[in-house]
Formats: sequence, structure tokens, C-alpha cells
Amino acid sequence: METIDQIAQQSIRGGEFLLKDITAQDIFTPEDFSEDQRMIATMVKDFIEQRVVPNFNRLEKLDIDLTTKLLKELGDLGVLGIPFPDTYGGSQMDFVTNILLSELMAASRSLALSFGAHTSIGMLPILYFGTEAQKQKYLPPLVAGDQFAAYCLTEPGSGSDALAAKSSAVLADDGTHYLLNGQKMWITNAGFADVFTVFAKVDGKHFTGFIVEKNWEGVSLGAEEDKLGIKGSSTRQVFFEQVKVPTENVLGEIGKGHKIAFNILNVGRIKLGSGAIGGSKVISNHAIRYANERKQFGQAISSFGAIQHKLAEQAIKIYVNESAVYRAANDIGQLEHSLLANGKSLGEALLGGAEEYAIECALMKVHSSECLDFAADEGLQIFGGMGYSEEAPMAATYRDARINRIFEGTNEINRMLSVDMVLKRTMNGTLDLVNAAKAVQKELLSMPSFEAAPVSFFAQEKTMLQNLKKGFLLLAGATAQALLQKLSTEQEILMQLSDMMGDIYLAESAILRTEKMTLRTSVEATARQQDMTRVFLEDAVERFSFAGKRVITAWAEGEMKRNLLMGLRRFTKYDGINTVAARRNIAQALIDANEYCF
Ligand SMILES: Cc1cc2nc3c(=O)[nH]c(=O)nc-3n(C[C@H](O)[C@H](O)[C@H](O)COP(=O)(O)OP(=O)(O)OC[C@H]3O[C@@H](n4cnc5c(N)ncnc54)[C@H](O)[C@@H]3O)c2cc1C
Repeated sequence: METIDQIAQQSIRGGEFLLKDITAQDIFTPEDFSEDQRMIATMVKDFIEQRVVPNFNRLEKLDIDLTTKLLKELGDLGVLGIPFPDTYGGSQMDFVTNILLSELMAASRSLALSFGAHTSIGMLPILYFGTEAQKQKYLPPLVAGDQFAAYCLTEPGSGSDALAAKSSAVLADDGTHYLLNGQKMWITNAGFADVFTVFAKVDGKHFTGFIVEKNWEGVSLGAEEDKLGIKGSSTRQVFFEQVKVPTENVLGEIGKGHKIAFNILNVGRIKLGSGAIGGSKVISNHAIRYANERKQFGQAISSFGAIQHKLAEQAIKIYVNESAVYRAANDIGQLEHSLLANGKSLGEALLGGAEEYAIECALMKVHSSECLDFAADEGLQIFGGMGYSEEAPMAATYRDARINRIFEGTNEINRMLSVDMVLKRTMNGTLDLVNAAKAVQKELLSMPSFEAAPVSFFAQEKTMLQNLKKGFLLLAGATAQALLQKLSTEQEILMQLSDMMGDIYLAESAILRTEKMTLRTSVEATARQQDMTRVFLEDAVERFSFAGKRVITAWAEGEMKRNLLMGLRRFTKYDGINTVAARRNIAQALIDANEYCF
């Protein structure tokens, strides 16, 4: 049987977007949603409109009974079971559908977090790593919404450094159970969860996952945390004191808990990405409607250029991030599919897919959460004083958005991780960054081409994108060669390299999505999507140039510095478009539609 690595080689590999040109036909876009996916979207939107929105005030006051009632209703509708096989009561739809679900659920505010923690970090560890007996026992009531799940990784002393957990598990003398002791912090759904995935070190050394039930003796909860936002979501500490955990409740292998913790986070990160897109769309809708209604100086504030700039910028970030999230989601889903077709188990297939695209998952977590924060901040600004009032939706939205840059690995950790994974894949030969970087260096020694650019659709943008990839390869290659192992501790450089990669992935996703849409319709029909893509690319080139200079000047000197700066200039040369006019056009489309319309 082929290995996961061999099967993954048959498609675009994780991180390979840095090296290869990808075509519009290679990517999935939101325009490709199936009829089934559209029907699910309608069902979830109706549910939120009818059952959640009228209850926002109660939910925000942490009405746990109502939260669990609504989750149960989602169970009855089959929504909780969408990621799970029918053996356990689910419908096991593809990964893109799961990602779409996270996007849609974002409109339910705090309930989205309860839903996400339950169906994602709560239940997936059991699906991915559980024994058949564990799955049979725990998943059906969780899928039905009769019970709820939570994930206990963080401790007071270990957050980003999750493997430094102090919780411990010691095998009892009779070998039938472990004695679990420890304290977990910031646990979403803790107030009503029945089943916890808990990480602890066996004999203080071997980091291991356990399935723990709420009703077992020795399990207790702290008070609800008084949080900045997502106030309708239960977040509590969970204490374990001499809890007897039967040996059959060890999750996965002893000492392999890190595999569970990190792989679950890969999935969590891209789901957070799509949730952030969903949240950003809700905010954009509020902002557009308010800007159209609110009059100052005798006219709607949406007629002012400064407001139009904000509305357009929200839409650009949403469109671009959405393009990238669904592209990555489909790559994950396709690989899952190939792995299953090649005889891998469900757990191996689901894990293999997300692990392969862990770089993209980390990038999406960072950029989508920052898109959401941008949308919330500018959305509040568009509301003016009303943005600061609890009577309007923006104040709560602004607070709620902020958590997304913190959990599922902070954005700092994810930025560093994304570069670290590229370097590791280069070292183990999965990504041929070394030869690609050498080719760029060789190209730099040759005369630049003065041939006229081809005139095909987005030709200039695609050439620019190729140049950004070359610029990244040049700088990442030279920096890694110069700093060697020291690079892993040069965090400021890693952050810049990560942002350069992120901009490449986002710009490419938007270019290909717009091209695909244009091929299906016409150049005229996608004029605004072209505007959004071009404005994003133009700003990305500026950011890239800025970040590149920071990287070069952080370590290079003399001739090396001059050559790299020259290379950077060559690869960031771009004839700009009129971004003011393009943003006005984008804003006008939003204003006319009175909602986010892309
Ligand atoms: C509302 C909420 C819900 C949560 N839900 C859950 C849950 O359900 N289950 C769960 O297990 N956890 C949960 N968490 C915990 C969350 O995952 C952690 O808060 C997060 O991982 C950050 O850990 P920390 O808070 O200890 O911050 P720290 O790790 O102390 O980080 C503090 C700052 O230092 C930075 N930093 C840390 N290490 C480095 C480094 N090596 N280099 C550079 N910068 C660094 C961070 O980026 C951050 O800016 C939740 C948290 C919140 C607030």
C-alpha cells in the first residue's frame, strides 16, 4: 500500500504554492458549491435567523440551558453530525462542507463558539484517535446533541508552550486505571460539557490524551470567566483531583498526546479562518446598511470617500481570505478522499489531509482573524458614536472578534510555525526550496527581460505573483543559508517571512478565483472582483517590499545586502493601478446592493 507521503505527492503539496504556478482549474472557489452545500447553507441561515438572532440577548447573558437547547436542535437537524460517519449518527460530508458550516455558524455569535468547541476540538480527537469502542460509546450522544464535549489542553502555566503541562497521570498499582491530577484553564464549554479530552503527562513525562467524564469523582469546575467578549460562551477552569480514569480511556498512544493536540489544531485553525470570514461578512452587512441609512451634512455617510474606502477594504479582505480558505479546504478534502480511496483508515485520512496543509491552515488562521479584527474595528468606526453603544451590534462584535487572534495558537505562534514548517519540509526534501532559490539567484545574474508582457487575462498580475514568489525564495533562501539554525530564534525575521508567504497565498487565491469566475462568465461580469484582486495585489507588493527590506537589513551587509536589495527591487517592480477609483467602484457595488455582495 502507498504511504500517505506518496499519495500526497500526486497533488499540489502543502507549501508548494511557493514554488509552483497553479492554474485556476486547480482550485476550488465558493462559486463551486454544490446544490447540497447550498441547501445546507439555507437551512443553517434560517435556523440562525429564526432561533438564534431573536435570542441574542438571552444567550449573551450566558443562558446555558438555552445554549444546550439550541445545540440539541442543531443535533436534531443533523448539523452536529455533518463531520461524522453515519456509524455514529452523522452524515460525514466533505471537508469543504464542514468549513462552510463554520462560516455560516459565525452569524450565531457566542453560540458559534459553543458549536465549534463541541464539534471540532471537542469531538474530533475521539473520531481521529479513539478506539472503535471509544467512538461507539462517546460519539453517538455527542452527535445527537444529548451530550457535549470540551477540550482541555491549556493550563495556568502552559498556553502557547502547551507541552509544558503539569497535569499528571499515574497508573494505579492494579493497572486498571490512571490517577489524574491537574488544573486546566480557559476551557470552552466547560460549564455544560459531559466529556472532556484532557492532556496530562504519564509519570510526569509522557504527554498523553485521556477521555474524562464530567460525572467522575474528582472532576470539578472553576467559576465562569468574566471575559472581554463572547460572553454567551461558557469558559471555566477544570480541576482534576485523583480522578480515576480507566485505562481504556487513554486516547491514542501513551506519550503521543502531542500528535492529537497539534493535529486537532490544524483543523481548528482553518475552521477558525472560515468562521472569521463569516463574522466579517456579518459586520460588512451591518456597516454597509448603517452607512446607507445614516445621514450627515445632508447626505448618506456612504457617499463619503473616507467611508467608501473602509467599506471597500472590508470587502477586499473578505473576498481574498475567503478565496484562500476554500482553496485550502478543498485541497485538504481532496487529499482525505485520495487517502481513503487508497485504503487508509478514516482517522488516518482526515489527519493526513490537515497535516499536509498545516502551513496553509496556520496562514489562514492568522490572516482571516486579522481580516475579522479589521472589519470589526472599521465597522465600529463607521457607526461613529453608535458603534460605542451596546444598543447597536458593533460593540459586542468588536469585543467578540478579538479572541480569534489568541486561541488555536496565537497569531505570533502561527506566524512562526508557518515558516518553521516550510523550513522543515525543505530539510526533509518535501519542498525543493533550495533548487528553486538557486534558480532565482541565477536569474538575478542575467539581464532582466524587456519583452512586452503577454496580454492574456491577468497576465500582469500573474507575472507580479511569480515575481513575489521569486522574491520570497531569494530572501528565504539567502536568510536560511546565512543564519542556519539561528534563524529559528530570529523571530522578527520569521514574522516578516510569514507575512510575505501569506500575501503570496492570498493574492494567488484571489487571482485564480477571479480568473475562474471570469472564464465562466465574462470579463465585464467580474469587474469588481478584478478590482478587489488588483487592489489587494498592489497593497501586497508594497507590504512585501517593506517586509523584505526588514529581513535583508536585519542580517545582510556589504555586497550581499546590496545584491539582495537589488533583487527585491527587481521582483517588486509594479505599475500600479488607480486604487482610489477601484475602491470607489467596489464600494458603490456594496452600497447599491446594501449588503456584502461578492
Ligand atoms: C475565551 C478563550 C477560550 C479558550 N478555549 C480553550 C479551550 O477550549 N481549550 C484549551 O485548551 N484552551 C483554550 N483557550 C486557551 C488558548 O488556547 C490560550 O489562551 C492560547 O493558546 C495562548 O496561551 P496563553 O493564554 O497562555 O498565552 P501565552 O502563551 O502566555 O502568550 C502570551 C503572549 O506571548 C506570546 N508568546 C508566547 N510564546 C511565545 C514565543 N515562543 N515566541 C513569541 N511570542 C510568544 C503569545 O503570542 C502572546 O502574545 C482559550 C482561551 C480563551 C481566552
